[in-house]
Amino acid sequence: KRVEVQAAEHGIDPTLLDERAVRVVQTLTDAGFEAYIVGGAVRDLLLGWRPKDFDVATNATPEQVKSLFRRAFIIGRRFRIVHVVYGRGREHEVIEVSTFRALPTAEGAEQVSGNEKTSKAELAGKSHVVDAEGRVLRDNVWGPQIEDAARRDFTVNAMYYDPQRQLVVDYHGGLADAKKRVLRMIGDPETRYREDPVRIVRAVRFAAKLGFELEPKTRAPVKASAALLANVPASRLFDEMIKLLQTGHSLASLEQLRKQGLARGVFPILDAMLDSKGELYEGARGQFVRLAFEDTDRRVKEGRGVSPSFMLACMLWHEVLDRWTKIRESGEPTIPALQQAIDAVFDARIGDISGRGKLAADMREIWMMQPRFERRSGSSVFSLIEQPRYRAGFDFLRLRADVGEVDGALADWWEDFALGTDDEREALLEDAR
Ligand code: ATP
Ligand code: MG
Repeated sequence: KRVEVQAAEHGIDPTLLDERAVRVVQTLTDAGFEAYIVGGAVRDLLLGWRPKDFDVATNATPEQVKSLFRRAFIIGRRFRIVHVVYGRGREHEVIEVSTFRALPTAEGAEQVSGNEKTSKAELAGKSHVVDAEGRVLRDNVWGPQIEDAARRDFTVNAMYYDPQRQLVVDYHGGLADAKKRVLRMIGDPETRYREDPVRIVRAVRFAAKLGFELEPKTRAPVKASAALLANVPASRLFDEMIKLLQTGHSLASLEQLRKQGLARGVFPILDAMLDSKGELYEGARGQFVRLAFEDTDRRVKEGRGVSPSFMLACMLWHEVLDRWTKIRESGEPTIPALQQAIDAVFDARIGDISGRGKLAADMREIWMMQPRFERRSGSSVFSLIEQPRYRAGFDFLRLRADVGEVDGALADWWEDFALGTDDEREALLEDAR
């Protein structure tokens, strides 16, 4: 049932809106289409937060959307959407515009085996493509708003906001759930997890980020459905894990994973960093990750960027360190031993995720800088601080010092050196000799 909620009741503060998102909606409605701000942005607005990004939903097709904007790109294959881009460089902003999707129907769903690239029905725009487990592989069938709402994940993520009339459109009681602070899956939770197992991880993420409780029926099938995550492509799972850790509530996310029995056995990277109970290790090893997560959360809350490579480098460091020690004990020199340890950890925990070359290179650089901080002779010092990723390497060293893995004086020395005048640097090099 479609419920329209007026400003007096929903209380959304219009100053929290993004001007460009409003402009996208305006352009679409001026052209005669329906268009709304949708999803997480509406949820955050209702909670009184400024959304970090804005999505728009419309009944215009991707091609129609693209034709209305100067800079717009149709992207995605599994799920085609349009990126409308404003501004350039660091200031640039992307508004994601998606076309209302139809509900998958049993008759319309076409099952494919293996990696069939296209199917006839899909090409005719009549069918969703699902695999043998019922997982939706492609979802590009357009439909009315009421169906678009029903195929979203949680009730609080399925509301639409019309910025011109300041109206919230709510089909699934999302407004009431937002007030009660519960996360409720739309439809039959077990089926919805089967269609897309990533929703399991999303449930954990939103519970942690919003501080909401999982509604009991939403929670019940979580544990039993977790095995389905094995069918999700590694790169999508990886992206979801990164999001989980960059909510600004990373430790709460870990806690929530543990509560749902998902802390171990789902993400190889978490397996590297948690003990058999799914807890951070005792002592320096756990403390290191804890400090890194607290720092990340602080940065997210201050609206500063966090780099996934730094976080991942922290999460896998102790495994690198263990392997490095072992390889060195077998007689390998320090630097090649570290290289080999890093290769082994990438193999074991990240695997072959295409398109992650930059991320892996950044992690490697942070780690490879660590032994270089121990050498403080003139030329090596200058070449190190001139590295483009020096700052990340230094922050990593500082973290190691904070847990007592290296001497705090070493980190102080590098900080003084980086900030120092020529004369001060001269003196520091003299001291280090
Ligand atoms: P965040 O603030 O963390 O970005 P969000 O709710 O905007 O949260 P997105 O991943 O950006 O989350 O997705 C946008 C919207 O698309 C969601 O609010 C939801 O309505 C819908 N959605 C995204 N992923 C799924 C999914 N796997 N299944 C069903 N609906 C989804
Ligand atoms: Mg979003």
